[in-house]
Amino acid sequence: MQKVDVVVVGGGIAGLTAAIYAAKAGKRTIVIEKQNRLGGRAVSNKKKGAYFNLGAHSLYKGDAYATFHELGLTLQGKKPSAFAYGIWKGKLSALPSDAKSLFTTPLLSWKGKMEFASCLMKLSKADTRPFDRISIREWVEGNLRDPMVRNIFYSLLRAASYVAGPDLPAAGPVLRQLQNALKGALYLDRGWGELIEELRKKASDLGVRLVTNIKVSSIDTRDGTVRQVLCEDGTRIDTRHVILATSPAIAYELVPFAKQTALHTWKEQAIEVTAACLDVALKRLPKPKQQFAYGIDQTVLFSNYSRAAYLSDDGAQVISLIKYQGKDADPEKDLRELEGVLDLMQPGWREELVVKQYLPRMTVCHDFAHMKRLENPGPAVPEIQGLYVAGEWASHGEVLVDAATASAKRAVRHMLSLEGKERNVFYEHRGII
Ligand SMILES: Cc1cc2nc3c(=O)[nH]c(=O)nc-3n(C[C@H](O)[C@H](O)[C@H](O)COP(=O)(O)OP(=O)(O)OC[C@H]3O[C@@H](n4cnc5c(N)ncnc54)[C@H](O)[C@@H]3O)c2cc1C
Repeated sequence: MQKVDVVVVGGGIAGLTAAIYAAKAGKRTIVIEKQNRLGGRAVSNKKKGAYFNLGAHSLYKGDAYATFHELGLTLQGKKPSAFAYGIWKGKLSALPSDAKSLFTTPLLSWKGKMEFASCLMKLSKADTRPFDRISIREWVEGNLRDPMVRNIFYSLLRAASYVAGPDLPAAGPVLRQLQNALKGALYLDRGWGELIEELRKKASDLGVRLVTNIKVSSIDTRDGTVRQVLCEDGTRIDTRHVILATSPAIAYELVPFAKQTALHTWKEQAIEVTAACLDVALKRLPKPKQQFAYGIDQTVLFSNYSRAAYLSDDGAQVISLIKYQGKDADPEKDLRELEGVLDLMQPGWREELVVKQYLPRMTVCHDFAHMKRLENPGPAVPEIQGLYVAGEWASHGEVLVDAATASAKRAVRHMLSLEGKERNVFYEHRGII
């Protein structure tokens, strides 16, 4: 029997962030991860000299970026050029990304160009909270007139949310993500695996125990209070605080009588978002100018990550393509569509191919701020003292990894607030962004 102050279940970005903040507050903390390495969906794999994430990953200037800076991570990488093509009716046209492309793009009429530029300018400074309870479609149709301007906005907001259709996502959070994207996303050198390594080191320096290859099988919550964590290998850990940094479905499974708790609502209301991800490393680009494209009438994205990040040891170009999927996705069809996008952007790419990775149905998020949501999950499970949740699905209006870090900090903050220790840990480095 071991005894600690906090057990974090799950060693992805949410779990590691929660563990770091708990340890900063002086809590004896352990992270238990069932895989043989930390990182969850943010790991990277090196294949034939090229670094591949589990699909395209960009770090926007939101909560995660601010948190990682606050923690002193170095985050090596660069902002890519914003110049982009749009894919419309099987052809490439420059999208309006600066004054020159706005002037020359054949996609928009003069009136459309004026509307696009003025909307983007207004949006960059707008308070988006009034749009938290309307869908992306309602926002677009209520704020934009020109049909092509609408199409382009749908495609930008799809890339910001990873959700294929505009009816489910609440507009406010996705518009904030777009505002963050407009400040410039960061492509990380050697992929997000480097970020995980930095988080691992930080946690370890703060004395967090990091255990891999052990699966938590249940949480003992007798009399409505956290008592023990039980693992599949028979390990039992005595604790009063557990942060479940897993999916909502796993969090539900781990807790006895979860049906009588908010975990049931959070699992039932969750809508999973998936994407087909094709990553390739090419010896060289057949069309060096064609590095980035948004699908306008196709739910796809193409980006050469090597234009801003160090992603191969021998100069190979690492390109990520995404197919945003709906409920009835067909991974074989998605692969053909993504290869078609590669044919369009980089004709002859097959002759330059070093290595390829296809992930037919990746879970991008287990849940998000959508129109059918009954309540925001966490930070505490109200029925069980000492039980908390974190993860990108436990969003209170943040998107993707920003929701992972924000929910992790909310969980620790809630835990500490019961002891009056909140201030020292969270407010010593204010004003990062
Ligand atoms: C294709 C793709 C593209 C993405 N692009 C972006 C992007 O551009 N920008 C962005 O901000 N975000 C992006 N994301 C999202 C980002 O990767 C996630 O938000 C983030 O990695 C989620 O971290 P997490 O800790 O919440 O969950 P996870 O990484 O899933 O971690 C949960 C961990 O819990 C462990 N676990 C589960 N059950 C148990 C158990 N019983 N015992 C012990 N351990 C357990 C799992 O093994 C896992 O490691 C993308 C994701 C994908 C898949």
